[in-house]
Amino acid sequence: MPKTVAIVGGGITGIVAALSASTNGDTVHLFERTDFLGGKIDEWIRPHGREQSIPTGPDAFLARRPEVTELAISLGLEDKLISPSAGSARIYRDGRLHPLPPSVLGVPASADLGDTGLISAEGAARASLDLDARDDRPDGDESVGAMVRRRLGDEVHEYLVDPLLGGINAGDSDRLSVVSGVPQLDVLRKKHSSLMTAAAQTLAAAPSNPGPVFQSIDGGLNRLIDAAEAELERRTNVSVHLSTSAELDRGTDSAWSVSNIEVDEVILTTPAGVTADLVRAIAPAAADELAAIDYSSVALTILVLPPNTIDLDPSISGVLVPRLCGLHVTAVSFASHKWPELAPDGSQILRVSVGRRTDERWSQLRDDEVVQLIRNDLSEIFETIIPDGPSLLTRWMQSLPQYDVGHADRVQAIDHATRHLDGLVLTGAWRSGLGLPACVASGRAATAKTT
Ligand SMILES: Cc1cc2nc3c(=O)[nH]c(=O)nc-3n(C[C@H](O)[C@H](O)[C@H](O)COP(=O)(O)OP(=O)(O)OC[C@H]3O[C@@H](n4cnc5c(N)ncnc54)[C@H](O)[C@@H]3O)c2cc1C
Repeated sequence: MPKTVAIVGGGITGIVAALSASTNGDTVHLFERTDFLGGKIDEWIRPHGREQSIPTGPDAFLARRPEVTELAISLGLEDKLISPSAGSARIYRDGRLHPLPPSVLGVPASADLGDTGLISAEGAARASLDLDARDDRPDGDESVGAMVRRRLGDEVHEYLVDPLLGGINAGDSDRLSVVSGVPQLDVLRKKHSSLMTAAAQTLAAAPSNPGPVFQSIDGGLNRLIDAAEAELERRTNVSVHLSTSAELDRGTDSAWSVSNIEVDEVILTTPAGVTADLVRAIAPAAADELAAIDYSSVALTILVLPPNTIDLDPSISGVLVPRLCGLHVTAVSFASHKWPELAPDGSQILRVSVGRRTDERWSQLRDDEVVQLIRNDLSEIFETIIPDGPSLLTRWMQSLPQYDVGHADRVQAIDHATRHLDGLVLTGAWRSGLGLPACVASGRAATAKTT
């Protein structure tokens, strides 16, 4: 039976839920607080000869999961799928840029770490103990930090695993759940008592030509949002309500109403804190659990530099900065190396991240002060003066949900506390992964739950 469904939140999760519910034949009302769709998928349209779109949020998605690729194909964007030209990262330590050793998410596949110069001889010797140490895997969840420090030592954790994983969600890998936050590491720890052996086995089993790790859409990920928005507009069973901060009501007859529109079902795809506020009156225990999900803030700054300002091989996609280096910058992505079409005039376009869960020093500063700190840090990292030039800083406050140890239990508690509320689905980036493929999967799964 076709139903009327309200979807709250017009980010990628809500958009996919709207596409999916309307394909099922339901009448859909999509509510978005701002005056545009896309949520964290946003761009800086820079007038530069021609209009140039530089992403201010996500710039790519993991291609080894199929969901975003499938979405792009379903929206007629098959020919627009592109992969980055550069894919090799470096880690900064002690004034030098070091290549990563063969690893799975920073877990090295061999104790022979000396060649990279990134890990000291002592650190490599400590890591090698993992090969023969007794099996001490706990049954339940643990933090990435606890697992890696125990098996491979602090140095491998601080200079390899944490820069890679901490960068993804601006988090603190000493609190990040292995089970919910980095399921690939959970697979690794279940494979073999030695993490290094498990990483080596994983790399050995990988296909010799695995295809691109990341993909994007020609012209930027906003073209995916544009295509989805056009498709929603074409569908007569979809109404998009922009600039509408949705409110949720449940009548005494158990009927749902969202911003005064009566609906049979409601899918909330908003960040956990907003969802907590929306459900507090009807499910206070769920609201408490949702409100307890912590979020990190980051500043992402786009810098446009003259050609050849930084002398770096074009195959290098970015640089990760371990927290022990004490700099403000956590990661530098060379957008013009990854996507050369962004800079036909040879300018160097950088996307620089500042801030992590354990470092919010930047949030008290003005934009120009943060940009100056970034220029100082980049001068130190790349040993060159970073001149003034066009820049755009985006403050992503409370934007990245933190999957702490025990996250799966918390999600279960939320489901338990809302199980009596027929027709209500709570989802979004806080639920089962914050990467774009996971969000697309969550949006689709949400409509499967309501049918
Ligand atoms: C700086 C940054 C870089 C990232 N880079 C990558 C990357 O390269 N690859 C990747 O895979 N992932 C990346 N991510 C993660 C990814 O972008 C997000 O997890 C994902 O876009 C979240 O989508 P969503 O729809 O769940 O939530 P959101 O995009 O947050 O959408 C939620 C929407 O709900 C709306 N809303 C809030 N309250 C209300 C209300 N009361 N009523 C109606 N609407 C409301 C908001 O305005 C928003 O539009 C990045 C994230 C950030 C912040």
